[in-house]
Amino acid sequence: MALSLHQLGIACMVFEATTEVHEIGVGINILPHSARVLMSLGIFGELEELAIRTRELRYMNHLGQRIWTGKCGLWGGHDMPQLSIHRGKLHGVLWRTAQARLPAGSLRTGHRLKSFDQDHGGVTARFRRADRTDADERGCVLVGADGIHSVLRSLLHPTEGAVRWQGSQLWRGAVEWPVFEGGNTMMIAADLRTKLTVYPIARGRSVGTRLTNWIVNGKVASSTTPPPPREGWSRPGKLDDVLPFAKRIRLPFLDVEALVRATPSFFEYPECDRDPLPWWTQGRVTLLGDAAHPMYPTGSNGSAQAILDARCLAKLLSEMAPEVALRAYETERLPKTAEIVRNNRRGGPERVLDLVAERAPNGFEHLEDAITPAELVDIVGGYARMTGLIDNHQFSPNAGSERQADT
Ligand SMILES: Cc1cc2nc3c(=O)[nH]c(=O)nc-3n(C[C@H](O)[C@H](O)[C@H](O)COP(=O)(O)OP(=O)(O)OC[C@H]3O[C@@H](n4cnc5c(N)ncnc54)[C@H](O)[C@@H]3O)c2cc1C
Repeated sequence: MALSLHQLGIACMVFEATTEVHEIGVGINILPHSARVLMSLGIFGELEELAIRTRELRYMNHLGQRIWTGKCGLWGGHDMPQLSIHRGKLHGVLWRTAQARLPAGSLRTGHRLKSFDQDHGGVTARFRRADRTDADERGCVLVGADGIHSVLRSLLHPTEGAVRWQGSQLWRGAVEWPVFEGGNTMMIAADLRTKLTVYPIARGRSVGTRLTNWIVNGKVASSTTPPPPREGWSRPGKLDDVLPFAKRIRLPFLDVEALVRATPSFFEYPECDRDPLPWWTQGRVTLLGDAAHPMYPTGSNGSAQAILDARCLAKLLSEMAPEVALRAYETERLPKTAEIVRNNRRGGPERVLDLVAERAPNGFEHLEDAITPAELVDIVGGYARMTGLIDNHQFSPNAGSERQADT
């Protein structure tokens, strides 16, 4: 958001609660629609140096039988590559670029938003600083990009309550691992009760290895159980918890249990979202990214939609008066992202895994007996269209153009 505003000649300040910015996290995918924004900001080349250009996305059952294969990025006929990257590296590039481009003092760490007031002339944001002093800052507009536990969201919607949890835990790790399936394939296997997502996110220390990101989902509680408290988020995971789920997935070319065991440390994270909001904007104040529309990490769209929000809002602010721009932004982005939140809750494109698991729990001889080509096109292609990843260009299951494959 800050880089887009700066590019359009609009001054801004960034207030970040944390005192020091560290490159934390594991893997994330930058899909072509958000890659286009990062290219226009002039940082795509630097990101690509740190990432893997993803060639193929493959859905499989828990025995590794293929359900759907799609070509990604340029291989799939898009005008931009898809990158799989360490989330911390993406954040690092964004942060350092903002430090280099914005005037000194524009990025303030150790500032936690507490409240705000607004009037006809602007907004006053009230922060608690890390040294326990308070700071008031005045601006034209206040954008809350403060994540799934957004303070600004709770100020705008005080009765909303806790995040939603359907009882699934995510264990996430990354480890140096021998190349598999060409070294640029993303794989999602099993079903929505126990799921493995695995893909390389960086070159390894040798040509035969890659830094390989894995996520295991496991259903650990019923869908009526309250979500774990905040201190239960992003804490170190335990092998005894994740292995029963990891062992269920048997892929011919990847020893999932060995991959998990080889990872020195990994994290546990409840899979949560929130119901779509009826509105994000109040006068000169609005929400963006996970603060506005936290969603299940299905379909690789969380950060992509945040990046698309930021581009949209920055452009509108450069074209019209602040309050009008904020309303236009909400009109453009709220319905689209609300649909993705709802769709991801039902499994997003990965719903095809569930359908196959239900109909062929012990594997299949012919895929068509478990799911029809029309269902695959409808679910996977429909999702790509809904999220803005593809328009109406040709979409067919288990296929993909090889156009520009090696560019
Ligand atoms: C397992 C997993 C895999 C994922 N994979 C993908 C993927 O492949 N592709 C994808 O696009 N997305 C993915 N996502 C989603 C993605 O990580 C999020 O959608 C994205 O990080 C949201 O960005 P954000 O800037 O809105 O919020 P965040 O990244 O949560 O950033 C919020 C920031 O606000 C700060 N903050 C919090 N409170 C305050 C306050 N009161 N005052 C000031 N600052 C505050 C925080 O310190 C933080 O820096 C995944 C998520 C998970 C859990």
